[in-house]
Amino acid sequence: MVGLRFYGGVGEIGGNKILLEDGDTRVWLDFGKSFDSGEDYYTGYLAPRGIAGLKDFFEFDLLPKVEGLYAEEMLGETETKYRAPRFDGILITHAHGDHVGHLGFVDPKIPVYTGAGTKLFMEASDETSINRLGEHTYRTFRTGDKLKIGSLEIHPIHVDHSIPGAYGFIIHTSGGTIVYTGDLRVHGPKADMTEEFIEYAAESRPLVMISEGTRVTTEDRKQSLSEQQVYKGVVDACVKAGNKSRLMIYTHGPRDMDRLRTFYTAATVCGRKIVINPKTAHLLSKLVHDEHLDLPDPSVDDSIAVYYRRKKSGHYDESDYYKWERPFLDKMVTPAELKKSPNGYMVNIDFTGLTELIDICPEKGTPFIYSMSEHFAEDEVEGTVLRNWVNHFGLEYIQLHASGHISKGELSDALATVRPERVYPVHTEHPEMFKAMYRGSVPPEKGKTYTL
Ligand SMILES: [Zn+2]
Repeated sequence: MVGLRFYGGVGEIGGNKILLEDGDTRVWLDFGKSFDSGEDYYTGYLAPRGIAGLKDFFEFDLLPKVEGLYAEEMLGETETKYRAPRFDGILITHAHGDHVGHLGFVDPKIPVYTGAGTKLFMEASDETSINRLGEHTYRTFRTGDKLKIGSLEIHPIHVDHSIPGAYGFIIHTSGGTIVYTGDLRVHGPKADMTEEFIEYAAESRPLVMISEGTRVTTEDRKQSLSEQQVYKGVVDACVKAGNKSRLMIYTHGPRDMDRLRTFYTAATVCGRKIVINPKTAHLLSKLVHDEHLDLPDPSVDDSIAVYYRRKKSGHYDESDYYKWERPFLDKMVTPAELKKSPNGYMVNIDFTGLTELIDICPEKGTPFIYSMSEHFAEDEVEGTVLRNWVNHFGLEYIQLHASGHISKGELSDALATVRPERVYPVHTEHPEMFKAMYRGSVPPEKGKTYTL
């Protein structure tokens, strides 16, 4: 018997956790953290205690109580007994938290299958973040590989998304073929990769398609330009700011490397240095090892500078910073330098770094380019606070964004091309809307088993 059970990504954007069982073979498709995981009980600094492992998650059913899945130390304080692994692998589509975020709870003995690029993102994140994904046995793949796990044969195919190294899966089971989209888009700079995935998916004549539906909504109000349009918008703003000798300020999703490349190229074309934060510099220094990604190397590229926030001593001493932050100290740009030559720089200021504006003192009318993912824009409190900062400093707010997700219309076309017998919508707040888009749509219920 082949069965699918959806533990996350049901009626919500992200948090995908899908169990696939084929006889004795049991694998998970993604093991992500919901964006609103536990928001009924936890908010701000009221958060699950790291020291308590799974206890604070199990209390409110925020993770499935499944035996043979979790690490012994994570189960320590719970009533669920540790059992040797009963799963053959976790298949990860890409490195966004809503697909990998809960991997840190998983028994390190269970192998984790990821794309080679995704592994680099996960390593960088573990070195620089407090939310650790932990030690695992990794098996990396690239497009064209065929993975054998028990009775399953899995073909990972690259797709375009707002993080490099994303994949969809074509999974041949003993009961028929399953296509899992992960997250994808067809309007991005690497649209041909998604097209290829859709072609392969159609050729595989799948019985089932598990499809993302982020933008399946009654009213898709999210801005979605092409990356080229974002680029043009940035260059236009840059030329205008240059004429008035003004600084350029921007913010974007921290792992959106297409967007980083867009800002980098625009800055270079306009004769400015791009100023990134130490975390981005560290991530880039990892990603340059993957030649497929074609990204600049912050250690040698003179058009990249790094903005360090003052810490501890307040004097930018080397010992003030984490070891991973230190390799780029000689590329440091200070607020004084930004004030002296504003039109020489395009500086990244993230939401939590808005306080730096107090030191940078941007001139009124300085462009602030907001180029972020949809999830952030929907947080009302942060949105209001951001607008207050923009107004206080008299910045010119410019929104320029290309979505990481396929539009509703494009998804309907993709479903019509792939023609699966059944579609399970995940990663969407409106799974029921799929019924009008495709006749074989079945909005899944959390925890229920669906046999092939
Ligand atoms: Zn996602």
